[in-house]
Amino acid sequence: MYRDKSIQRISSDIDWDLVVIGGGAMGLGCAMESAQRGYKTLLLEANDFASGTSSRSSKMIHGGLRYLRQLDIAMVRQSLKERGHLLRHASNWVKEQRIIIPLYKRQELVTYSIGLFFYDLLAGRDNCQSSKLLNLQEIKDSLPGLATEGIKGGVEYSDGLFDDARLAIGLAHASSAMGATVANYMPVDSLMKTKSKSGQDKLIGVIATDKETATSYEIKAKKIINAAGTFTDTIINLDQPQESHKQVISQGSHIVLPAEVFPATKGMLIPQTEDGRLMFCLPWHGRILMGTTDIQMQKASWQPKPQQDEIDFILENSQSYFQHKLQKGDILSSFAGQRALISGSVSSKELSRTHKIIRSSSGLISVLGGKWTTYRCAAVDAVNQAWGKDTNKSHQSILNDFSQGALEDDSSQFIHPNLPYRIKQIERAVKHEMVVNLEDLLARRTRALFLDAKAAVACADDVARIMAQIMGKDSQWISSELSSFQESVKQYLPQ
Ligand SMILES: Cc1cc2nc3c(=O)[nH]c(=O)nc-3n(C[C@H](O)[C@H](O)[C@H](O)COP(=O)(O)OP(=O)(O)OC[C@H]3O[C@@H](n4cnc5c(N)ncnc54)[C@H](O)[C@@H]3O)c2cc1C
Repeated sequence: MYRDKSIQRISSDIDWDLVVIGGGAMGLGCAMESAQRGYKTLLLEANDFASGTSSRSSKMIHGGLRYLRQLDIAMVRQSLKERGHLLRHASNWVKEQRIIIPLYKRQELVTYSIGLFFYDLLAGRDNCQSSKLLNLQEIKDSLPGLATEGIKGGVEYSDGLFDDARLAIGLAHASSAMGATVANYMPVDSLMKTKSKSGQDKLIGVIATDKETATSYEIKAKKIINAAGTFTDTIINLDQPQESHKQVISQGSHIVLPAEVFPATKGMLIPQTEDGRLMFCLPWHGRILMGTTDIQMQKASWQPKPQQDEIDFILENSQSYFQHKLQKGDILSSFAGQRALISGSVSSKELSRTHKIIRSSSGLISVLGGKWTTYRCAAVDAVNQAWGKDTNKSHQSILNDFSQGALEDDSSQFIHPNLPYRIKQIERAVKHEMVVNLEDLLARRTRALFLDAKAAVACADDVARIMAQIMGKDSQWISSELSSFQESVKQYLPQ
């Protein structure tokens, strides 16, 4: 995957079958599906791949117990099927994770056992290890950091755990291997239209600017898919300025903690906190990931940041469940993601996470809503809108041909004693994974910023020098990268 080759193709090939706007889960899924069907496909991402919501998720590939509670059976079944597919075909990224739900009322032991029995049943042949009831001692053994007062027992079940940004990079690689052209730092600024014979507006392409060189390109395409996530309405308004907003934006934040505060290999889920929210603790890359919140926002942000009261909410709620009394000083990193939910009259906690594909009178196909777990379903639906249903069912998933990012037999130095990344891995990412700046490398090719923001700052200078050497950049570039990185880090460090 080489950015200069993509730019070369964009400047020489002016006619495309499909342009996809947005390089998150949905856009990358569309590019992969379209390229697999043999269409000449171009994906344009405004910033880095997955720099939007798709690197800021809760890292679960899940059927969704919440949807089961809401009796959204179709959604649970579809998600469980996708979970099975990803565990098989993206096993470099997605692993089965056992999760325990501690329960405080005897009655809940019955309800959750029945609920999880159906969860397993709905998965059918895609099921993981079966769910089971646990007694208090078994919970203590599995979750040594848990405050066990009042616990009557619990249930244990499986879902998938993944590295979202790395799966996105895997999808970008796979789409390129299938023949798609993908480019990051290439925002679509406007849409090109012509009048049809009947006098109606018809989309014929996009105008996009390469942020690296400030060069604009007129790109013609037969079909255009808008997969701009929380900015989907912005693109819809480029097409139809009067159109009302189709999505509402909600924000969820997470904190990352050292493994010692909750030393468990199994995850924990609190399905309902006192104010009815879902809370979880998951072991992720040797740390503990904890979240999440759900607050409605006025508008989408390119760089969402956890709000003070979101962090306080997570810390306060943890007090009832952890033996270790968590404090702000324990937090290694925090991050926020924003969801685009399909508009409705209920609160964001209740809005559906399903996707919807709409098509405007001029032909713009927009992907609304959705979740990572079911990105493939949204992509197939969007590409079907463009080209009709696919009759060739023989597509092979080639995701597993691409690695997680780490190299086998790599004994090079770690970039920092607290981070699991080595110098050779960094060099490979810079050479082959379309890294443009320091944040791409430390937030999404590695997850350093998400795992330990201070450690990421500490090694930034060394990493920038390695990058500069490979990319042929000078000392001025290094200084400018370091200063913009210092700004980005503020998103991840709780104040
Ligand atoms: C807090 C939180 C936790 C979540 N946890 C889970 C989970 O555990 N499991 C799960 O399955 N799902 C989860 N989700 C949902 C999942 O993360 C999202 O559904 C998914 O990432 C959305 O992908 P997307 O491609 O639509 O959006 P994005 O990832 O935001 O991608 C859209 C892209 O479009 C680009 N873009 C915008 N405008 C332009 C333009 N003009 N030109 C070019 N590009 C443009 C943006 O830069 C962005 O990269 C979670 C969501 C949130 C907010």
